[in-house]
Amino acid sequence: MKFSTKAIVMGQEPDSATHSAITPIYQTSTFVREDISKPQSFEYSRISNPTRHALEVCVASLEEGNYGISFASGIAAEHAIVSMLRPGDHVIAPEDMYGGTYRLFTQVMEPMNIEFSFIDASNLEEIQSAFKPNTKMVWLETPTNPLLKIFDIEAIAEISHKNNALLVVDNTFATPFFQKPLLLGADIVVHSTTKYINGHSDVIGGIVITNDAHLNQSISMYQKSIGAIPGPFDAWLTLRGVKTLAIRMRQHEENAWAVATFLKDHQKVEAIFFPGFDTHPNHHIAKKQMTGFGGLVSFKLKGGYAEVKTFFEKLKIFHLADSLGGVESLVNYSTKMTHESFPVHLKQKLGISENLIRISTGIEDKEDLIADLKQALE
Ligand SMILES: *Cc1c(COP(=O)(O)O)cnc(C)c1O
Repeated sequence: MKFSTKAIVMGQEPDSATHSAITPIYQTSTFVREDISKPQSFEYSRISNPTRHALEVCVASLEEGNYGISFASGIAAEHAIVSMLRPGDHVIAPEDMYGGTYRLFTQVMEPMNIEFSFIDASNLEEIQSAFKPNTKMVWLETPTNPLLKIFDIEAIAEISHKNNALLVVDNTFATPFFQKPLLLGADIVVHSTTKYINGHSDVIGGIVITNDAHLNQSISMYQKSIGAIPGPFDAWLTLRGVKTLAIRMRQHEENAWAVATFLKDHQKVEAIFFPGFDTHPNHHIAKKQMTGFGGLVSFKLKGGYAEVKTFFEKLKIFHLADSLGGVESLVNYSTKMTHESFPVHLKQKLGISENLIRISTGIEDKEDLIADLKQALE
């Protein structure tokens, strides 16, 4: 079965009790046991719930994974993964990653004696030399936020496995429509389903996907023991969103191309970051491991804070907000928003400057998006 079909079919058989065509919202905390001696597949909703189960089966199938374990947020999903680590273990992670993940690692995990090395993941030699005898995990996020760097998943999976470490890939930006890390050698994929998977900016959620039965068992144990699960209604909304993932991603990408092409040649634009351009430093890796370049575009406006402020104030269709991947177009001011808590030296090193703007292109008509950018730039 192919991608768009799976999104609509997998985990979504007509309901066994009522033949309801759409997976019902099983808004219940518990299930009545029919026979005292017979455990049932659904007994208590922290452990499992049919609506949540349908979502897990569906998204896992899109990632070519056997197991999906969903969570109340992307960060809760990430927390379940790093909960497998033990004091004294070491993790290699890229220096440019989602600000909330960086906070989880440095504020929650480091005080519990988990050690992190933040490295430039585009440099394979730097990754190789970061391994220590206690390295258990390599964490990757590609494309990165907000500079849209692309890291070579296949090459990094090989290095990780040679060093007996697991490779985790945060696939939130690309989605399985454009990139399937498990097929490139990753052991675990994680998503903030808040973004493209749900796609309508109305749910916070996360999911972990793997093909390894043992990893599934461990992470499922943390899911039920820590209890950061999505409620049935959030699971249902996300499942409803995921049905249109393929057509949304096509439109997001088409609009991103249009916006990036318009901005590239504009006199008020100092630099543009879009992995689809062959001038992008990692374009060749993107072409190798992705089937499309996604819906995000970042750029540097000529000038500084004052120019950026005016630009944001003039925009009418694009709203200034955190988050991305929804049907509506958003702009984000990384240095003061998503990366506010990032150390200044890392922001400087990476180029998260005062004039950097990240765009999440929605699925509106691209002519309207360009007209809006044009009038705000002028
Ligand atoms: C948003 C995001 C997260 C965190 O997910 P939440 O659903 O907000 O908890 C993690 N990684 C990436 C790449 C994100 O964009």
